[in-house]
Amino acid sequence: MTWFKKREEEEKEGKEGKEKREELNFSDQLWTKCNSCNEIIYRKVIERNFQVCPKCNYHFQIPARKRIEGVVDPGTFIENDANLISGDPLEFKDLKRYPHRIKKSQEETGLKDAILCGEGKIEGQPAMIGIFEFNFMGGSLGSVVGEKITRLIERAIEKRIGVIIFCASGGARMQEGILSLMQMAKTSAALAKLHQAGIPYIAVLTDPTTGGVTASIGMLGDVTIAEPKAMIGFAGPRVIKETIRAELPEGFQRAEYLLEHGMVDLITERKDLRHTLASLLEMLGPDGEKR
Ligand SMILES: [Zn+2]
Repeated sequence: MTWFKKREEEEKEGKEGKEKREELNFSDQLWTKCNSCNEIIYRKVIERNFQVCPKCNYHFQIPARKRIEGVVDPGTFIENDANLISGDPLEFKDLKRYPHRIKKSQEETGLKDAILCGEGKIEGQPAMIGIFEFNFMGGSLGSVVGEKITRLIERAIEKRIGVIIFCASGGARMQEGILSLMQMAKTSAALAKLHQAGIPYIAVLTDPTTGGVTASIGMLGDVTIAEPKAMIGFAGPRVIKETIRAELPEGFQRAEYLLEHGMVDLITERKDLRHTLASLLEMLGPDGEKR
């Protein structure tokens, strides 16, 4: 009898422990600590503010779908190539197999790969829009991302509509090796064709934009916009510091530093992006040329 009693008690304790853990997780989800001002803020408040800290204006990363809500006119976005899925050409395995990593990211983000592409309107201006999802394997540029961007640009040429790409990426996707690096050339070539057709491309660099994405689509915009304090660079600061064996200047690789040195054209707060993008599309768009 005692044995059973003990079991019951253990079960009860286990259950209570689980409840306690859930309660903790729940409180984790309710509150967020700002990375910049360390203020504890109600998560809903940040979400309502499109992932911007209401105290210090720090721009948190924003999921791709949420970005649409913040920029594109309601009900106008039509997604393209939503079901394009990556293969495993190298049968790559590090700690986990590549297909397992993809599957996990798909479950976490609801996307099939690291970019969301489609057509929509911004204050009435039509645009072909690509949005990197950093939560999908660090927004890495694999063959699916490269193909989706290329198709987006080809559609833009066909329809004579401007292109906007929101970058958030750690760079090329190592699990696809050379095939991933090739996407830099492929997307750059597509952008050259867009340029020849006289259609504008606006790059919006968000935190962080690094590696192969910076070295291709990130730096090829007719206009390059950055979000405040976004980290933008090729190699990370630690690698550069170790290579050149020198202290890096303050604010190195941040949007403001890049603006000062002519690498970006303007820094736009998230709340102003919709209007800035619409004005640029109107001014630079194929229709604008005729005016
Ligand atoms: Zn803050």
